[in-house]
Amino acid sequence: MCQRVMTGQKYVCGHFIPVQVAATIDCGNRRCEKSINHPDHCHRVGCTTRWGPDKEQIVETVAQRCRSCESFEHGHADRR
Ligand SMILES: [Zn+2]
Ligand SMILES: [Zn+2]
Ligand SMILES: [Zn+2]
Repeated sequence: MCQRVMTGQKYVCGHFIPVQVAATIDCGNRRCEKSINHPDHCHRVGCTTRWGPDKEQIVETVAQRCRSCESFEHGHADRR
């Protein structure tokens, strides 16, 4: 399974928010559609079409919580 290297921001809550794809890592598997080794006209079923888990490349550390953590907090703020 090929993987993508995502550049992005790391938040203090521990979440990584990807911004863009920096690079792709080719697994070299002929049965993986993302690989350059995969034949162009392959009609076989069962080839891998999905990306493997993204690799995180932190380009910026943000000193606050990410949006989903913020909204999660706000959604539970009224509960009293
Ligand atoms: Zn692959
Ligand atoms: Zn294939
Ligand atoms: Zn978060």
